[in-house]
Amino acid sequence: MLTLNKTLGMPSRLSRWQIPGFLRSFTFRPGKQFLHKLVLGIETSCDDTAAAVVDESGNILGEAIRSQTEVHLKTGGIIPSVAQRLHRENIEQIVKETLSASGVTPNELSAIATTVKPGLALSLGVGVAYSLQLVNQYKKPFIPIHHMEAHALTIRLTNKVDFPFLVLLVSGGHCLLAIVQGVSDFLLLGKSLDIAPGDMLDKVARRLSLIKHPAYSAMSGGKAIEHLAKQGNRSHFDFQHPLHYCKNCDFSFCGLQTAVDKIITQKEKEEGIEKGQILSCAADIAASVQHIVASHIAKRTHRAILFCQQRGFLTPSNAILVVSGGVASNLYIRRSLEIVTKATNCILLCPPLRLCTDNGIMIAWNGIERLCAGLGILHNTEGLRYEPKCPLGVDISKQVGEAAIKVPNLKI
Ligand code: ADP
Ligand code: MG
Repeated sequence: MLTLNKTLGMPSRLSRWQIPGFLRSFTFRPGKQFLHKLVLGIETSCDDTAAAVVDESGNILGEAIRSQTEVHLKTGGIIPSVAQRLHRENIEQIVKETLSASGVTPNELSAIATTVKPGLALSLGVGVAYSLQLVNQYKKPFIPIHHMEAHALTIRLTNKVDFPFLVLLVSGGHCLLAIVQGVSDFLLLGKSLDIAPGDMLDKVARRLSLIKHPAYSAMSGGKAIEHLAKQGNRSHFDFQHPLHYCKNCDFSFCGLQTAVDKIITQKEKEEGIEKGQILSCAADIAASVQHIVASHIAKRTHRAILFCQQRGFLTPSNAILVVSGGVASNLYIRRSLEIVTKATNCILLCPPLRLCTDNGIMIAWNGIERLCAGLGILHNTEGLRYEPKCPLGVDISKQVGEAAIKVPNLKI
């Protein structure tokens, strides 16, 4: 079925005999829905060069991604200038691959959407500069995208989820809890006061020298910890729960990282091993760290749900918690959150794994959401800037802290 939209400039009244001629004036090919909205999404905020074309029904027509994980693993973390160089080397090819896979030409796009905030300045700059070049060349509207908004809205591409819903975003660069009331209408309940959980797990994995172990050398730090933890005893090390006495929804992972670091140094001495060798108790450390990270995230999320229920922010009969970001692929953390949602009569939803980490699809979909809602569509990009730091929504974390909700103990 063909859907005609306003942007086509269809005459308001066509007589019956005029309609076939009008339709023929478009190069319609079976299987291609040219009359639908089509958005090209481009993502370069951190260490993935990604693009996708998505239509307004949520069909992914084409996508391509080049991850830099392997390179950054070798250097022990992301070096911004290296990330920038790799984005520069890959962006043109990634966009070409995406368009060719989708069978769509730039002229057929309704708009181009690109991550402009937050992220690494040098990385954001590559995606924004390339996108603006395309926008000017093909005279297309531009939709600037907030990376975290895109993560939060991805679930509406894969599931039928209405506003409002609660979202937990946990990745290498981000950690936050927010109420999603609309496409660009967020209430921030809490965020990490220092580093994100993925960053912390990456650092612990590096400190444990997991990169030297063939089974884990190609994995991100968080994934390596999850795999190693399966062979460990989570009660072996008793790390303190972060922010235990703060009855709010903020997070902290720096203190835990320091405590883990100390234990590793102490064990290295005890076992008489050199830095770089793998400790005999590495699996126990991984399991204990993962358990504290999961409990901390679960506790803060539990409080966020109780706060929303107390203040009527969620629909009681259909309260939804969406969890996304790279760390959301951790099954131990997911199971801890399942215990929380079960106890609070909420529904837990996670996008499929490949959509939890950074990708171009979520950016294109965010573009579609904004296009349909008529929000933030630019026809003139003069003076457009990318923003390395940018909070999400209206911060109501103070109210959450003032409510000081006591969270009942749940066995994780
Ligand atoms: P960002 O771009 O903010 O770094 P991504 O969404 O690309 O975040 O996710 C990458 C992060 O997710 C890394 O810090 C990585 O260690 C973490 N991660 C990936 N898989 C897992 C897992 N199974 N368990 C825990 N953390 C994970
Ligand atoms: Mg990433």
